Amino acid sequence: MNTIAEQYVKLVLALGQHDADYVDAFYGPPEWKAEAERDKQRLVDIRASAERLVSDLRRVTTESSDELLMLRHAYLTRQLEALLSRVRMLEGAKLTFDEESQALYDAVAPVHPGSYFETTLKEIDRALPGDGPLVDRYDAFRQKFIVSADRLARVFDRAIAECRARTLPHVQLPTNESFTVEYVKNQPWSGYNWYQGNYRSLIQVNTDLPIYIDRAIDLACHEGYPGHHVYNALLEKHLVRDRAWVEFTVYPLFSPQSLIAEGTANYGIEVAFPGDERLAFERDVLFPAAGLDASQAAVYAKVRSLVDRLAYAGNEAARQYLNGELSRAEAVAWQMRYAMTPAAAAEQRTRFFDTYRSYVINYNLGKDLVKQYVESAGGAATQPARRWQEFVRLLASPRLPSGLRAPSAPRR
Ligand SMILES: [Zn+2]
Repeated sequence: MNTIAEQYVKLVLALGQHDADYVDAFYGPPEWKAEAERDKQRLVDIRASAERLVSDLRRVTTESSDELLMLRHAYLTRQLEALLSRVRMLEGAKLTFDEESQALYDAVAPVHPGSYFETTLKEIDRALPGDGPLVDRYDAFRQKFIVSADRLARVFDRAIAECRARTLPHVQLPTNESFTVEYVKNQPWSGYNWYQGNYRSLIQVNTDLPIYIDRAIDLACHEGYPGHHVYNALLEKHLVRDRAWVEFTVYPLFSPQSLIAEGTANYGIEVAFPGDERLAFERDVLFPAAGLDASQAAVYAKVRSLVDRLAYAGNEAARQYLNGELSRAEAVAWQMRYAMTPAAAAEQRTRFFDTYRSYVINYNLGKDLVKQYVESAGGAATQPARRWQEFVRLLASPRLPSGLRAPSAPRR
């Protein structure tokens, strides 16, 4: 397995030479990266090697009393299959949105017509003052919740400290873990965690568009604690260092690993802030830190939770746009109509579709699959300590998206 794992890492690095977004993180031997840059393997050769590795894996015995060993085998196989699909896409293969998400992320998002969102839209309509297009009223309502540029770092630092303090009692993190935050512009994403290895992350926040107060906790949990930073640090600690499983030193973005990464990062918000705890912290600490009117915190949280229920509308826009059923302008209009995304943000999101394509399902479908998995394993919302336990167990293991749906294997 270790030999196959090493070959897998080298293939991911080789494919990275054809696709600049593919290798999201790599902290294995630097000479492997230099080798990939020097050799510039052709796609056809990468494909042949990956196919050979998949058949080598089929001959490896998987029966083991160690669940992690079985997960490792299934994970490597599925990551290689996703790599093969990405090669075919780079060679020009055209996949539908659902075919692509199945091939790359091991999951397909449910289909919802516009009518599916109407009930929620009516509730938002009742909650927002004025008349005129709902998205404009939502945008106007949100103006009161923008964090000014000069207070951004203070608010984010406070949120990060809180998320870290809530995570530490439940997760044994390496003592030297840390991350830095940078504020950047001109990106198709709103935030990004670049994991550097040695338990360090670089987190970038895109300030192209106004940043609203709820972004502070979203970002601090999603990119930091207990999201991407913790996930990557736990994989490094438990799999790379304790077990010397070298395949986890590389993170190919267009692979099933991304659904687990994004799903846990999003679900981690409610794990860290169960019930009304998020609202209390925002109202009592973040609103004052941002100089905003704390008496508005509850109504803002209510509207936000309604808008969150429209998350799948973004998937629909991406699916129809990438399948060629909606033009670019129509995709923007769909997001404005059904996802409550104001024009500028919908334009930014459509640029995200151009670059990352069906990756969009990883956020909301990923969250739902992770939530269902953790809660069915005993981590119901009423059992916060147990929920943390199951959540952290998932973070530290190489489980596949399709494995989140399957009945859980017996736990030790
Ligand atoms: Zn993310």
